[in-house]
Amino acid sequence: MQWTDVQWKSVLTPLEYRILRLAGTEPPGTGRYLDDPEGPGMYVCVGCGNPLYPSTTKFHSGCGWPSFFEEVEPNALTIHRDASHGMVRTEMRCARCDGHLGHVFEDAPHQPTGKRHCVNGFAVLFVPDGSDPRDVLTEHRQANRR
Ligand SMILES: [Zn+2]
Repeated sequence: MQWTDVQWKSVLTPLEYRILRLAGTEPPGTGRYLDDPEGPGMYVCVGCGNPLYPSTTKFHSGCGWPSFFEEVEPNALTIHRDASHGMVRTEMRCARCDGHLGHVFEDAPHQPTGKRHCVNGFAVLFVPDGSDPRDVLTEHRQANRR
């Protein structure tokens, strides 16, 4: 999926744009989806609707961002070395639209994978079971325009 900046800006909020397209980070504790899963469903990329995390992989880490222990399938994400801000971290991007999602850390020993996918709440959208991701994404974008 190759979109221009103008196209992205036409569908994303300024904050979503800054996170997904400029690898920004929402301040801790300010995003959505901070606690337990919103219910049975799937967290999808807010840029393109790509399914990323089933609600069964979400956990409350207290780190200030939504946390998941495993992506829905290995091809959902791409992994990159991020040496910005004086740290070496592992960045995750949406495999479909290349949008920045967050970073993955190996500091969740009580989770099945030991990993904490630390995801920006504004990079994802929750789609309840039984709903069409495209409808949820469309509604979200229309609500943003109001
Ligand atoms: Zn995407």
